[in-house]
Amino acid sequence: MKYKRILLKLSGEALMGEKNYGIDPNRLDQYAQEIKKIKELGVEVAIVIGGGNIFRGVQAENTGIDRVQGDYMGMLATLINAMALQSALEQNGMFTRLMSGIKVESVCEPFIRRRAIRHLEKGRIVIFGAGIGNPYFTTDSTASLRAIEVEADVVLKGTRVDGVYTADPEKDKTATKYDNLSFQEAYEKNLNIMDMTAFTLCQENNLPIVVFDMNKPGNLKKLIEGEIIGTLITTN
Ligand code: UDP
Repeated sequence: MKYKRILLKLSGEALMGEKNYGIDPNRLDQYAQEIKKIKELGVEVAIVIGGGNIFRGVQAENTGIDRVQGDYMGMLATLINAMALQSALEQNGMFTRLMSGIKVESVCEPFIRRRAIRHLEKGRIVIFGAGIGNPYFTTDSTASLRAIEVEADVVLKGTRVDGVYTADPEKDKTATKYDNLSFQEAYEKNLNIMDMTAFTLCQENNLPIVVFDMNKPGNLKKLIEGEIIGTLITTN
């Protein structure tokens, strides 16, 4: 196994599957099965899931809701996705804990770093819901921060493209994929991998990122086993 403890970042939008809004139960189940394959290898798994399929803070400004209020709504949206994912993981026989950045005591535990690490050591999948609990952040930043806090070896950013390209592959047919990149190169070439807060956190803490296609069955497992899947971004 290439990694012992990982943080998997899934976007909320990915959960829509073929739908335009909300959660596609087939996609949810597919993700649970992909995660089960790596759990069986013995890897410790933490997950951050976005909320873009339900609500985004920036969206609020167009509807007259103020930004901070909108961001809290976005954080609660991530919690709904996290609960759905928790349920799918448990239905597939995995043990999980959901920890929230905002206190919702009757639903899940608050985020406590030492406790999160303990859950991981015991083999439970830990899902971090409600972002970091502060407005003006994203779930990418949450993924970087929580990964550093729980001492994960890597952030695996599951997307619908198979890595980082020289240009947008959906628009430019000549675009080529990078297998490896340094943080510096990604920055200089203005490659949009994560928002700058999330990206800088990883860079400063020497935490590698892998961008990969989460929708391709078996990809996540191959990645954990050390195959070159997606794009690896490291310090050098
Ligand atoms: N959000 C926030 N603080 C956080 C994490 C998330 O305010 O720590 C809000 C923010 O408004 C964001 C929304 O939650 O737009 C949903 O998260 P995100 O857009 O990162 O989800 P994704 O695009 O990954 O689905």
